Amino acid sequence: MIIRVSELEEQGLRIDDVDALATALPDPSWRLESVALEVEADGTEVFVRGRLAVTAPQTCGRCLEVFPAHVDTPMDVRLVPKPAAADSVELGADDLDVDFYENDELDLARVVENEATLAMPMKPLCREDCRGLCPTCGANRNVAPCTCAPRPPDPRLAALRDLAARPAH
Ligand SMILES: [Zn+2]
Ligand SMILES: [Zn+2]
Repeated sequence: MIIRVSELEEQGLRIDDVDALATALPDPSWRLESVALEVEADGTEVFVRGRLAVTAPQTCGRCLEVFPAHVDTPMDVRLVPKPAAADSVELGADDLDVDFYENDELDLARVVENEATLAMPMKPLCREDCRGLCPTCGANRNVAPCTCAPRPPDPRLAALRDLAARPAH
């Protein structure tokens, strides 16, 4: 979904057509659930603000199963024209959400995908109490308990615990 920055009207653009944007998402395994965005230009700067919700396949950090992760995130991105390779853009401390567009063309689907990716958890869990894989036999303990004995506690960790339990002076 390409937006021509120079053609953005003064009142901006309102995007809430899920289907139009969903078909533009690069990854077909993503499902866009809701979108409500305002796209506004101020000179060559473009602001995309609003909210979006997607469901995307993620790999659980504990059991390594792929599961549908739901992300519902506010969006507040500033886009500036991509500088020539030799130039650098000065980013302030509050400019974490700055992105670029090229040749007057802003690909909104790409921006949405970027933001949703950033909003995904760093270590996704298929569920809060996922039991993960057995460190001994590698079985997925959510599916069936294995018969491995629990590992003896790591003596180094025990030493650390003792240290932490010592009263502070
Ligand atoms: Zn899991
Ligand atoms: Zn096991």
